Amino acid sequence: MAHDQPAGPAGPSKLVIRNIGLLLSGDIDKPILDADTLVAENGRISAVGRAKDVDSEGATTVIDANGTTVAPGLIDSHVHPVAGDWTPRQNQIGWIDSFLNGGVTTMISAGEVHMPGRPRDIVGVKAMAIFAQRAFDNFRPGGVKVHAGAPVIEPGMTEEDFKELAAAGVKLLGEVGLGGVKDGATSRQMVAWARKYGIQSTIHTGGPSIPGSGLIGADVVLEADTDVVGHINGGHTALPDGEIRCICEGCKRGLELVHNGNERAALYTLRVAREMGDLKRVILGTDAPAGSGVQPLGILRMVSLLSSLGDVAAETAFCFATGNTARMRALDCGLIEVGRAADFVIMDKAQHSAGKDILDSVRLGDLPGIGMTIIDGIVRTQRSRNTPPATKVPEIVKG
Ligand SMILES: [Zn+2]
Repeated sequence: MAHDQPAGPAGPSKLVIRNIGLLLSGDIDKPILDADTLVAENGRISAVGRAKDVDSEGATTVIDANGTTVAPGLIDSHVHPVAGDWTPRQNQIGWIDSFLNGGVTTMISAGEVHMPGRPRDIVGVKAMAIFAQRAFDNFRPGGVKVHAGAPVIEPGMTEEDFKELAAAGVKLLGEVGLGGVKDGATSRQMVAWARKYGIQSTIHTGGPSIPGSGLIGADVVLEADTDVVGHINGGHTALPDGEIRCICEGCKRGLELVHNGNERAALYTLRVAREMGDLKRVILGTDAPAGSGVQPLGILRMVSLLSSLGDVAAETAFCFATGNTARMRALDCGLIEVGRAADFVIMDKAQHSAGKDILDSVRLGDLPGIGMTIIDGIVRTQRSRNTPPATKVPEIVKG
């Protein structure tokens, strides 16, 4: 279903979400907003406030949130897409649409490395990256924004290659270490060239994920100096605690925690980041599809894990999956702020959770129930087919 979703509203549109019970901002400095109404015009947030203070006249779509919780759509900082909504890794179709049902509205590719017959020669690497960038720019499975086209560096690439990739629209590097370049010095040079032309980078951290991949330790991670320390909690095999601490303390780059990683190492990284006063660096991904499968609720599960066992307020844990990632990766979504993309997830406490409200339920380790997702101001899904049922759900009262 929902394979040819429009990127945005067809004509002028005005979305009003009223009667919001709790508004999560995505901003770790102020995770809860004092507002009950959101307005979005032509796919962008245009007002946030109390109902009496915002202009909701002329709405084309009105949603009664029915006292539920609205948050920015979740961002998965680490996925491995291949072609449309198909993954050969676990031979599944519709996995991205399943993630949308888990509240994910934006995904970042860490490399299209599962492509059968993936080219390793430089012209082939560049061609595949440009193809993936174009294909996912043109096509949004279920409406989800997939930022793809993330080449994995190979020996022999020159500055000219990165310049050419950037000029063609490539904005990401796939995980350093998944290709033929494994050493710190070469990685550092290529990452610097990429950065010079506006291409963001990430690295595979920890032991090999599948036969054929390799170990990347703290020394290589720090020398390579990628923008994001990809799965610092391993994918799945984590580095020893001492090396994780060394990475946290040895750089100011993003600390990415993934579902397809070591949970204890994720909690350890979180503790170190908190001690350092650096929770802004923490971002979340799934690393799906992977050997451990496809996890439609992976980001919600990470939020719940880190909040319940990592002693972080639930509203703060949601920032790891929204505003932190948006800022680090210069995305126009992820925060409830005028001018940002109108990408939302509407949730409530799951039915029969022991928590007294949604935040309490997440602190107790439960997952919230999703009642609706919205991307670019358009309703994409209603009651999730994948989460436990939400106690209350929003209702479309107009449009
Ligand atoms: Zn990896």
